[in-house]
Amino acid sequence: MTALSLQADCSRCAALCCVVLAFDRGEMFAFDKPACEPCRHLAADGCQVHADRKPLGFRGCIAFDCAGAGQYVTQVMFGGRSWRDDPDLARPMGEAFATMLAVHAQLGHLHQSRSLSLPDEMQQRLCELERALQPAAGWTLEDVRAGRAEKAVAEVRAFLASLRPFVATRS
Ligand code: SF4
Repeated sequence: MTALSLQADCSRCAALCCVVLAFDRGEMFAFDKPACEPCRHLAADGCQVHADRKPLGFRGCIAFDCAGAGQYVTQVMFGGRSWRDDPDLARPMGEAFATMLAVHAQLGHLHQSRSLSLPDEMQQRLCELERALQPAAGWTLEDVRAGRAEKAVAEVRAFLASLRPFVATRS
């Protein structure tokens, strides 16, 4: 099993969140940005307003956490390549990032659920699902396009929904 890091490392990512994700002007962002278009503040060496994001109206950028999906897509799925060097990579990297965001988020939820008092069979299922989200060979773009990663995510969501009674009894 290839363990996924749930800790974002922007230094190993091709600034995917600043390109792939769309945002709307409002409380969290100062202007509209369509999906798959680089933010106007993004330069070759990163965000040009990084230290001033809050006063400039980009609290959404501060709050966002890809949980490690960005560097996974950049380093593991695309071998360190970037849309900056090859614009044709922008679309496939965007596809991969959208799916890997969900994979990383659901893996984080599973890790948190380990602290619940679950029956043995559910603990076992939880471990199975953690393994399914971290295939030994790693995720590939082909897996994403074939829907295999989304299928794994859907199974985790269904399992997490079944944990509600255990969450309620904990508090
Ligand atoms: S403001 Fe900076 S951190 Fe936010 S999307 Fe633009 S470049 Fe990225």
